[in-house]
Amino acid sequence: MDDWITCQEGHKHFGRYNAAGVLIYQRNLQTGDIEVLLGQRAQGTDLPGTWSTIGGALDKDEEPEDGAFRELLEETGLERTHFGITAWTTADHGNWLYFTFCVEHKGDLDLTKIKLDTNEITALGWFSRQALDDPKLPLHPGFKDNMHELKFLLPPNINPTTLEFSEW
Ligand SMILES: [Zn+2]
Repeated sequence: MDDWITCQEGHKHFGRYNAAGVLIYQRNLQTGDIEVLLGQRAQGTDLPGTWSTIGGALDKDEEPEDGAFRELLEETGLERTHFGITAWTTADHGNWLYFTFCVEHKGDLDLTKIKLDTNEITALGWFSRQALDDPKLPLHPGFKDNMHELKFLLPPNINPTTLEFSEW
């Protein structure tokens, strides 16, 4: 049974047994930039309207990786076999953890074919680092806190003209 928990940093989180999500990324072949796929959270979730990784509460004794991909399947219909994990990180809130898995889709990902569970996510979108830096974009605060670490886990951007790497 899922439940709300107050973590040691004072947030209310859904999921007594921690939570996990996937950060799907791709390289935009026109710009050379890495972009991440975020979901906009539906009414009834914590912080509706904000953008975050796709994920949710873990079941008791569920491995974080299994839970993250279970949530992805439930919310988008996307299957685990199409993804490879390239990095992961844990946000530690004392008595509550959030596991983020950076995953790359094998081949093109057609968002128009995805049927969202709109009780959880109302929209999906690709965001470059520049787009994420826009202060007007309502990012989920937990995801925002994680960003400084996540950017080191994702591949660098590539300038398509000079082929030089730049920070993500
Ligand atoms: Zn917390």
